[in-house]
Amino acid sequence: MGGPSGGPSAEPDITPVMLTQSHDVPPEAGGPTAGEPPNYRAAFAMARLPMALVDREGCVLAANEALGALLGTGSARFAARVAAGLLGLAEDDPARAAFREVLTGRRDQLRCTRLVKRRDGTTLWAELTLSGTGGTALLSVEDIGERHSLREQLRHLQMHDPVTRLPNRALFFERLSAALDIAGSRTGRIGLCYLDLDGFKAINDTLGHRIGDQLLAAVAQRLQTCAEPGGNLVARLGGDEFALLVRDSTGTGQATKLAESVLTALQRPFDVDGQRLAVSASIGVVEREAAGSSATGLMQAADTTLYWAKADGKARWTLFDPERNAHRMTRQALTSTLRQAVERGEFVLDYQPLVALDNGIVRGVEALVRWQHPHFGRLAPDRFIGLAEENGSIVQLGRWVLAESCRQARAWQKDHPDDPLFISVNVAVRQVWDSDLVADVAAILEETGLPPELLQLELTESAVMGSAGRPLQALHALSEMGVRIAIDDFGTGYSNLAYMSRLPVSALKLDGSFVQGFRSAEHPNPADETIVEALVELAHRLGLTVTAECVENAEQAERLRRIGCDTGQGWHYSRPVAPDSISALLAAQRP
Ligand code: C2E
Ligand code: MG
Ligand code: MG
Repeated sequence: MGGPSGGPSAEPDITPVMLTQSHDVPPEAGGPTAGEPPNYRAAFAMARLPMALVDREGCVLAANEALGALLGTGSARFAARVAAGLLGLAEDDPARAAFREVLTGRRDQLRCTRLVKRRDGTTLWAELTLSGTGGTALLSVEDIGERHSLREQLRHLQMHDPVTRLPNRALFFERLSAALDIAGSRTGRIGLCYLDLDGFKAINDTLGHRIGDQLLAAVAQRLQTCAEPGGNLVARLGGDEFALLVRDSTGTGQATKLAESVLTALQRPFDVDGQRLAVSASIGVVEREAAGSSATGLMQAADTTLYWAKADGKARWTLFDPERNAHRMTRQALTSTLRQAVERGEFVLDYQPLVALDNGIVRGVEALVRWQHPHFGRLAPDRFIGLAEENGSIVQLGRWVLAESCRQARAWQKDHPDDPLFISVNVAVRQVWDSDLVADVAAILEETGLPPELLQLELTESAVMGSAGRPLQALHALSEMGVRIAIDDFGTGYSNLAYMSRLPVSALKLDGSFVQGFRSAEHPNPADETIVEALVELAHRLGLTVTAECVENAEQAERLRRIGCDTGQGWHYSRPVAPDSISALLAAQRP
C-alpha cells in the first residue's frame, strides 16, 4: 500500500459555492487557438480523474466534476474546506503532518489510501495523492475500490489455509502479537493451546492425502466449535498442527478447559469418504501474563509443552511447567558447554578404593569424574555423562579421564613400587566406536609410563554384548596389550556369562542391586545370596575376578567374603575421594 491508511473520514462538508477566479488557476480560454494559452481550467474541470486544487493553508480552491461525482455531491463546487478533513486525516495522523509538509513545500508528494465517506453515507477506498511545490497543491482522489477488494481477497488467500479455511501460521502470529499488546487487553493475560494430531502421518500415508485433507478439515470444524463460544481463535499452523488462542485469558483454568473440550470433541470418530477414522491429539497448554511475553517465546514454550504431552503418552493436554523447563534448559546449557568445559579443564577426578575382601587392603581405585561447573557447582556424572554420549563430547572427555587417571596411577606407583595400585577407568560405548581407543590407550600408557597391567577399563554389559567388528577387535587389542577389561554393573543387562567368557574380559563388577538384596541382618534374602554365590563360583571357573559394588556395611562385606567375592567397593570402605586422600590411605597401609 502506498502510505498510511485509516478509518472513514469525516463527511466532506460540501457546500455549493462558486469558485472565485484564482491566479493559481489558468484563466478560461476559448480554444486551442494559436497564440492563446491552453485552457487548463477546462481541462481540469473535465478531467476524468477526480481532482481538487488546494491552497497553502490546505483549503480547497477548486474541485472538478469527477470529484463531485465520486463523492456523490453532484456538483464540483466545494466550500473552502480544509482538505485534510476531506481526506479523513485525524489531528494526530502522521499523514496529516506529511500533508502539511507538502503544502509548505518541504515535501513533494504524499500518497495514502483512505476510506472516504460519500455524501450519502456510503464509503469508498481511495488513493489520495497530494503534490505541490509550496504554492497551490493538486489533490487527486482515485477510486481504488476494486483494486482494494482484490487486494483484500489476495490477503485473505495469503492468510488462510486452503484445506481447512482456518487462519494460517502468518495470520496466527499477527493475531498473537496483537493479543500480546497489553494496551488492548482486558485481563493482561494470554492462553495458548498448541495441538498436534497423534498418528496423523499414518492415516495420510495409508489412506492418501485426499482423505488426510478431508480429515484435517473435519478436525478444524470441531476445533472451531470448541473455540467459537469463547471467541477464541483457531489456526492451522501447518501439517497436523493447530493452535487455539485465548485472548484476555482469566487464568490457566480457562485454557486447560478449552484443551479438555477439544480432546472430548475429537473422541467421536470421523466419517470421511465412507471411512470411519479415529484420531486423538496431544496439546501443549501455555498460559501467562502478556507483559514480558513475546510471540516467539510463547510458541517455544508451547512447542516444548506439546513435546511433553507426546512424551507423557499422547492423547492428553499438558500444562507448561517452568521447573520442568528449567531442567530442560539446564540440560541444554550443559550440553552446549560440555566441549569447552573439557578444553577449559573444568573436570576433576575422585577415586574410590577397591578393597580385597579377605584382608582389607586397597588393591585398586576407580576413577569417577565430576564437573566443577562455574554456575551449577559440582555435578555428579549422571548429570552429564549421558549428554556427553549424546553429543559425542564423551570422546574428548573420556580421553582426558584416561590420561589424568593414568598419570595419577603412575604417581602412586612411583610412591609404592612394591605393591602398586591398579586404576579402573569407565569407558563409554561411544569411545570404542567413535575414537581409536586402542591408539589412545597405547599413547597414554607410553606418555605416562604406567604399566598396562595397572590399567583396568570398565565397560557395561550392554556395551560389549553382541559386540562384533570394531569393538570386539578393540577389546582383543587392549587385552593383548595387557590392559584388563571389567564388566561394570554386571547383572543389570543380559547377564550372559557364557557369552562373556568368550570375550577377553578379566573381571566382573557385580551391580549394587545384588548387594542391596542382603542389606539388613534382620531380613536377609537367601535367594539373592544363593544367586550371587552361584554367579561368583561360575565367574571364578571362567577365570574372572569378582568385585562387589555398593558395599555399605561390615556385614555385607563379611557375607561377600564368605561367598567368595574377591574385592569390594563402597561407602563401607570409602566414598569416592580426592587423590590426596588416597595418597594418605596408601601411606597408612603401605608404610
Ligand atoms: P559406576 O561406574 O557403577 O560407579 C559407581 C558409582 O556408585 C559411583 O557413582 C559411586 O559414587 C557410587 N557408589 C560407590 N559406593 C557406593 C555405595 O556404597 N552405595 C551407593 N549407593 N553408591 C555407591 P558416581 O560417581 O555418581 O558415578 C556414577 C556413574 O557415572 C558410574 O557408575 C559410571 O557409570 C559413570 N561414570 C563416572 N565417571 C565416569 C567416566 O569417567 N567416564 C564414563 N564414561 N562414565 C563415568
Ligand atoms: Mg564403574
Ligand atoms: Mg558400576
